Amino acid sequence: MKIAFDVMNKNNCSTIRSIGLKVGEMSGVELESLTMAFTVLTRGTPADGAQLKINRVPITAVCNQCHKTFRVDRYNFFCPECDGVLILQSGRELLVEFVDVD
Ligand SMILES: [Zn+2]
Repeated sequence: MKIAFDVMNKNNCSTIRSIGLKVGEMSGVELESLTMAFTVLTRGTPADGAQLKINRVPITAVCNQCHKTFRVDRYNFFCPECDGVLILQSGRELLVEFVDVD
């Protein structure tokens, strides 16, 4: 929210129309509680009624032996092809991707 209001102030705008978030599947963020927190936090602010657009980032990892990249399912961090260990590449993100202001 702080980031969103900073953008708004810098642009001399008074309303936030939508906020885009990048949320990794492994970031530990529950989308439901995130959406709820957003509604509560924005009430009575210039972001009241703003749309929250969430872009989920899948968990991907690269094998330390065959160097192939895989999508990780069920938190299995062993390579399906060579039993090497998978090293996390993405999925832990929690970023503000864009803020759309008026
Ligand atoms: Zn491998």
